Amino acid sequence: MITIKSRTELKKMTRACEIVAKALQLVEEAIRPGITTLELNRIAEDFIIGQKGLPLFKGVPCPVRGGPDFPGTICASVNDEVIHGIPGLRELKDGDIISIDMGASVGGFCADAARTFGVGSISQEARRLIDVTEQSFFEGIKYAIKGNRISDISRAIQQYAETNGFSVVRDYVGHGIGKELWEAPQIPNYVTGNRGARLEPGMTLAIEPMINQGVHNVKILGDKWTVVTADGKLSAHYENTIAITDGEPIIMTKLRGEGI
Ligand code: MG
Repeated sequence: MITIKSRTELKKMTRACEIVAKALQLVEEAIRPGITTLELNRIAEDFIIGQKGLPLFKGVPCPVRGGPDFPGTICASVNDEVIHGIPGLRELKDGDIISIDMGASVGGFCADAARTFGVGSISQEARRLIDVTEQSFFEGIKYAIKGNRISDISRAIQQYAETNGFSVVRDYVGHGIGKELWEAPQIPNYVTGNRGARLEPGMTLAIEPMINQGVHNVKILGDKWTVVTADGKLSAHYENTIAITDGEPIIMTKLRGEGI
């Protein structure tokens, strides 16, 4: 079932979304060659907890049998890592790209967002991958309008990414969000046989294209969490929590000036 949020609920959710947006900005500002992904994790965690938020990724049970609960507040996925990279002692190097994904809840409502950043100076092709991934999200939400279907969003994302010569990860998808981090519906970033639900005002969705430089196939590393591209080429991720309204969608995990 897809939950519909009242105006009051949306307002509560906005607080969680602002905290995630600000935490992402703080992490972005700290990214430089030599910093470890664990240090980035600490920046996000300290901020979220300081705002009375709850980091949502920490302690998530591993989807792979026998794997550990996720230990981080952020997922930190470098270069060919698509998603679910575990923060650790890896030092970022000039020319790397890093995807930061995080979720937090405040007052019982959740927010989820991700960005890919360059470290130092990155190749033109890496920059293009990051830019196309971000733009594919914006192409998708042009269709995040009441009365449309989930698949209208999926199609726009896929067309834009593939027209630009990249591929769309199939194995992981976006999702509804609200009191729970993962709610119905699933939101693939590619067209499936299913048109998906009709969009209604009050739905809140985490739309998150994961776009690969090479093939769309992925595999999971021995840590049972880190998802990497099957061909070792780069991958980028861009995600916002959005709300469907009577008009244009609202991007909730976006900073609105300072003042948080
Ligand atoms: Mg998500």
